[in-house]
Parts: sequence; structure tokens; C-alpha cells
Amino acid sequence: MANPMADDMRRFKATDEKNPFEAMSERFDRAAQLLGLDPDLYAVLRVPSRELKVYIPVKLDSGHIQVFEGYRVQHNFARGPAKGGIRYAPDVTLDEVKALSAWMTWKCAVVNVPFGGAKGGIICDPRQMSESELERLTRRYTAELLDFIGPDKDVPAPDMNTNEQTMAWIMDTYSMHARHTVTAIVTGKPIALGGSLGRREATGRGVLFTVNEAIKRFNLTPAQTSVVVQGSGNVGGIGASLMHEKGYKVVAISDIFGGIYNSNGLNIPDVLDYLKYTKSLEGYKEADYVSNSELLEIECDVLAPCATENQITSENADRIKCKILAEGANGPTTPKADKILHEKGIFVIPDILCNAGGVTVSYFEWVQDRMGYFWREDEVNQRLEEKMVASFVELSDLAELHNVDTRTAAYMLAIDRVAYDTKMRGIYA
Ligand code: NAD
Repeated sequence: MANPMADDMRRFKATDEKNPFEAMSERFDRAAQLLGLDPDLYAVLRVPSRELKVYIPVKLDSGHIQVFEGYRVQHNFARGPAKGGIRYAPDVTLDEVKALSAWMTWKCAVVNVPFGGAKGGIICDPRQMSESELERLTRRYTAELLDFIGPDKDVPAPDMNTNEQTMAWIMDTYSMHARHTVTAIVTGKPIALGGSLGRREATGRGVLFTVNEAIKRFNLTPAQTSVVVQGSGNVGGIGASLMHEKGYKVVAISDIFGGIYNSNGLNIPDVLDYLKYTKSLEGYKEADYVSNSELLEIECDVLAPCATENQITSENADRIKCKILAEGANGPTTPKADKILHEKGIFVIPDILCNAGGVTVSYFEWVQDRMGYFWREDEVNQRLEEKMVASFVELSDLAELHNVDTRTAAYMLAIDRVAYDTKMRGIYA
């Protein structure tokens, strides 16, 4: 008899190492197989629930209209409203957004928050657009999605090249159509508009909390731990600052153009101030300027890729010289690289746990908006730490129990939770 699950798995064998959706599917397949996932549940969970493609006309400052292509993929709603960021970049693809939406489902399940997964993206180059063009782009994109988003349906958040201002525009556009203010439609908003204290720092803080747990496995203290961070934005910049503050020795950091390295450690607040004013790390005093690929190969205790996908591949995995890989970015490592890192004995804090601090505090923001009652920053941070540490322990225990790598354990933990809830609800087929 034909085995549809085996056929589907063959279809999803990754052919392109750098296709994020294939990379996600390959990991999903492995975990599903180890869990002995029911073939019906497998068929439902391996694909997104809905993919929307929208064409967004925007009046440019020149007076001409340009039509942009945008996406919103809603991967899963089994555990609650879909949740996920919106990315503005020239190289956004539907496959990337699909993968990111699935990672959101698994991420929310790993940290056990009652959300499904979604992601959005618009193909545009925000660096070439004025503030008012970005505002019109955001408002029209929101208008196109009105029927599909909502506090109980799908709750967007910031991602690469979108920020608190973008969320404020989405919230306002949605509220104008709803005829009343709906703060819980987005998270990552300005504090004054219903945002949560600690949300801006939450992803970087989550990276810190998971790294704190991982170094214990190597009997290291923060002061004995050297850290290399790729990326200096919301995740990398804030993560590096918080680690610096906790006494870690951050020896290298980069932005899209390149990075700086000093084996004695960098003064991260000073580096970030320099970057803010000069818009480049080049020329920073008492540090060597290195390329992003050289930066990844620096010998260190913790390597934290916090920029973008496909940074560690079969081409460079063999030259990675860290003890712990803390994946602040989504999908920085390909499945082929996973195998090499595992053979080298590198301990991976997988992205769907490592960078889950953002969505955890987004959940707290959504709860606070719906209560109309806001928490102190220390309460937010403490609740975040509890969730991140508990999830780290759960995942490490599962990895040991099944004798699998930590990424596979993370997928197993997540898929098991989503599959259980889907089964309890029943498949409306
Ligand atoms: P950001 O735009 O604030 O910063 C991105 C940083 O990476 C910048 O320093 C940029 O110069 C650098 N960068 C971009 N492309 C690069 C490339 N090709 N090579 C090297 N460096 C590059 O974005 P962010 O919010 O910090 O997000 C970074 C990653 O973390 C993304 O993968 C994102 O999906 C993920 N993430 C973000 C959040 C969040 O709350 N912001 C939460 C979870 C995951």
C-alpha cells in the first residue's frame, strides 16, 4: 500500500541547501519521523494554512505610483491566533516567508505560548524610501490584510527593517477601519500606544538567558566566556550590550558591511554609539576590521549569528570554532551545516528557542493590552527569564532522553505540542 507520508517526505528532501522552507521541512520531517507522528497530522502540519500575496500600490514622493509585492503566510492556528513579524527587504521571497511562518509556529510551541505562527514580508528597499513612502506602503499593506488579521486572528510584529513606528501605523490603520482603537492588533508597539516595557530588548535578553544556561554545561562563568556576535540590530546589538553588561567578553561584532575584532574584548556601548553616528564599524579604534565571513570563523566560546539566514552552511561549518552556537537570527544554519556542527561537538541553542524571547514578550504585550493593565519592566523580565530557562531545560532533557541534537529536540517538543492540540480539536476535513 502507498505510504503518503513517505512520498511527502521524499518530495521535501532538500534540494537547495539555502532554500529556507526546504531547510525547515527537512528538520520537520526528521522530528516527525522520530516522534512517529500520525500520517494525517503530518499531512496537515507540514504545510501552511494560508498564503496571501498582495499587490500594494503606493504613491511615491515623486507623485508616481509604484506597485509593491507583499506576503502574509499564516502557518498554523491550532493553539491560538497566528503570530509573527513583518519584514521589509529587497530579497524577500515567498519561500522565506513560508519558512519564517512555520518557525513561528514551532517557536511559540517551544516556549509554550498560546499562539500559532505567521510571517509577512514586502519586497522593497526601505533604505531607498522616505518615511512618508514607508508609511503609505505600511498602511496600504495593512488595508489589504484587514480581513485576515486581528487580535484573535493574526497579530503582526516587527522584523528586519520594521520597527515600533511601523507597528504604530498598522495599529492606527486597523483601528480607523474598526472605528475604535485596537491596541492588541500588533505587538512591538511604542510603550505610549500599549507596548510592553522590555519588548524592545526581549529577543536579545532571551539570547542572554539561554547563553547563561548553556555556559553552565561547559563550567564557564560570563567573565571566562568570549562571545562573537554577527549583526548589531535589535537582536545582535541589544544581545551584545546585555552580555557585555553581565560581564561576558564580547570580542567581535558586525553589521551588514563587516565587523570589528579585539581579542581583549570590546566596549559594546561605545561601539554601538560609534555605529549610530558613523553608520559603519570601519575605523573603530583598537580593533581589526574583518569581513562577515571572517567574523564567523573567529575562535570563541559563544558564536551568536544575529543577522539573517544561511550564514553557516556546508561551505564554512567545518571552520566554525565555537563551543556554543546561539542562534539569535532565524535560520542562520542550514541542515547540511547542522550535521557538521554536531560531529564537531558544538552545542547549538536552536533559533526556535534562542530568539523566542521576542515572541514571549509579544505574548505578554498582547495579554497586557487585553487586560488594559501594564506590568513593571522587572516583572516582564522575570517572567521572560522563567519561560526561557524552563524551555531550555525541557529541550535539553528531551535531547538527552532521545539521544538527539538540540535542534531535533526543539522540533520534537514543538511538533508534539501542536500535534496534540490539533488531535484534541479534531481535523475539520
Ligand atoms: P535588524 O534589522 O534590527 O538588524 C539586522 C542586523 O544584521 C543589522 O546589523 C544588519 O546590518 C545585519 N545584516 C543584515 N543582513 C546581513 C547580512 N546579509 N550579512 C551580515 N549582516 C547582515 O534585524 P533584527 O530584528 O535584529 O533581526 C535579526 C534576525 O533576528 C533576523 O533573522 C530576524 O528574523 C531574527 N529575529 C528578530 C526578532 C526581533 O524581535 N527583532 C525576534 C526573533 C528573531
